[in-house]
Order: sequence, then C-alpha cells, then structure tokens
Amino acid sequence: QARADRLQTRSFSPADQSILDRQRQLDRDLRRALGRNQLRLNFQPQVDLKSRNVIGAEALMRWDHPELGPVSPAEFIPLAEETGLIVDLGRWILFEACQQAAAWPSPITVAVNVSPIQFQHVDLAATVANALRSSGLPASRLELEITESSRVTDPGRVHAVMWQLRDLGVRLAIDDFGTGYSSLSYFRDLPFDLVKIDQSFVRDRTSAEDHRLLAAIIELSSKMDKHTIAEGVEDEPTARLLTEMGCTYGQGYYFSRPISGENLCKLLSQPHRQ
Ligand code: C2E
Ligand code: CA
Ligand code: CA
Ligand code: CA
Repeated sequence: QARADRLQTRSFSPADQSILDRQRQLDRDLRRALGRNQLRLNFQPQVDLKSRNVIGAEALMRWDHPELGPVSPAEFIPLAEETGLIVDLGRWILFEACQQAAAWPSPITVAVNVSPIQFQHVDLAATVANALRSSGLPASRLELEITESSRVTDPGRVHAVMWQLRDLGVRLAIDDFGTGYSSLSYFRDLPFDLVKIDQSFVRDRTSAEDHRLLAAIIELSSKMDKHTIAEGVEDEPTARLLTEMGCTYGQGYYFSRPISGENLCKLLSQPHRQ
C-alpha cells in the first residue's frame, strides 16, 4: 500500500524499478521454494513467567533463498498475502507445525500464525481439522495467532470461522495486540483465549506512561478472563516487571531466539527446562 502511494505521488525512479524487480523475483521463487525444501519452520520457546518453564513454542517461517540468502518473513509474508500464495503457504505451515509438535512432550503447545487472508479464502477450519487428524496432535495443543488486518473485507466471516475453530478445541490468540484499530471491541465480539501483547509495548518502555500502559493492557485482559503473553522480552528486569504486573507468559530473546525444531526437541527433553 505504501509502495502504491509512493508511486502515485512522484515520478517513477530506478529505485522503484529495483524494488519491483525484487518483488517479482521473490513472488516467482516463493512458489517454487515450497516444493524445493527451501522453506522451514523455526520455533521460539514461550515460558510461564512464574515458574519459567517452557509451555509452548511459536512457529516462525524461514526462507533460505539460493541466491539472495535468508529472506525475512516480514518481507515475503505480505507479498504472499498480496498474491494469494499465503493460502498454500499457510496450509503447509499448519501441517508442518502440527507434524513436528506431535513429537513434543505433552502438554507443550505449538502456536501458528494465521494470516487474515486464510480466513477469507479457504475453509480454514477444515484445513486445521485435517492437519490435526493427519499429525495426531490433540487440538488442545494447537494455538492459532490471529492478526487484525485492513485487508479483511468481511469481519463477519472471521467471527464465524473463529467459532468453528473454537469448536474444534484449538486455542486462539490475538497477535500484536494494541497495534490495530479495534482491539477493544475484540473483547466484546470475538471468542479467544489469549492476548499477545505486541513487542512495541514491551521493549520500548522509556516513560512512566509506558509502564502504566503495559500494566493497563494486562489488567484489562485479566479482567476479561484472558491470559496474556508478552513478546519481545529481552532482559530479566522486563521479565520480572511483567511477572509483577500479572502477565502469564513471556517470549523473547532473553529466554531464547527462534531455534530449529531439532534444537527445540533437545531443550524440551532436558529434565529441568529453563
Ligand atoms: P510476529 O508474529 O509478531 O513474530 C514475532 C517476531 O519478533 C519474530 O520475527 C521474532 O523472531 C521476533 N522476536 C522474537 N523475540 C524477539 C525479541 O526479544 N526482540 C526482538 N527484537 N525481536 C523478537 P520474524 O521471525 O522475523 O517474523 C516476523 C513476522 O512475520 C511475524 O511477526 C509474523 O507476523 C510473520 N510471520 C512469521 N512466520 C509466519 C508464518 O508462518 N505465517 C504467517 N502468516 N506469518 C508469519
Ligand atoms: Ca505471532
Ligand atoms: Ca508482533
Ligand atoms: Ca504478526
């Protein structure tokens, strides 16, 4: 969108051309990457802030491009959403994540990011049910992280699909909480279990207002009977502050960077998990 605005407000430059060339290449190559083992999932542990036990992990997509090197999901996911490729990509992520998580000790959960586009274009609940069935992962150990998006044209459909997912027994989290437009109405309108506080509220606390805002999000969520997970926890003082504020779970570089499925399995098999 920002790109389109820029193109309209000033003349077309060589820099614009190279952005477009890269996007065209990424779009074309992403389609092939799916079938060529260039895509994989990393997992970032999520901990219970009181006990510091690992209780789950978020699946994060990685793409090693043969010529361009690692491409960030922050770059290729929006592109895949634009072209609709996110539907096939999202299906692959769900199956792959459930498959790997089925080998983890119970009740460790896997959290999977779901694009709003997947709500619009496919029978998401059927895809999720298939992924659970073919992997053998119990529904209670799958959590879906859902982000608000201006691309969603039919909020009524999102609402209906969320109820279908709820009925399957999977857990639902609102991702990047606090950064969207209508976060507060979610509490009234949408069925979910967990509020995921965006890292911008967790990492950049410079004023007393920042502290009070973070505390207010946690308190509001808890009053609405939701658990909270803070992302972007980078140090012990932040972990301690969040615990004191009543936040349930934490995730961030302080506990662990995103790691390979293999390394996560090693971590989970240690007798005293961090
Ligand atoms: P997100 O869902 O908000 O994921 C959190 C991002 O913050 C991840 O970036 C993670 O590596 C990073 N992060 C985690 N802890 C820390 C920390 O302590 N400090 C800092 N500075 N960063 C931290 P990543 O892996 O680059 O993913 C970027 C975004 O791409 C994700 O943001 C998510 O929106 C999207 N994404 C990634 N994988 C998938 C996927 O499989 N499906 C969909 N639909 N989106 C995905
Ligand atoms: Ca997420
Ligand atoms: Ca976020
Ligand atoms: Ca996100």
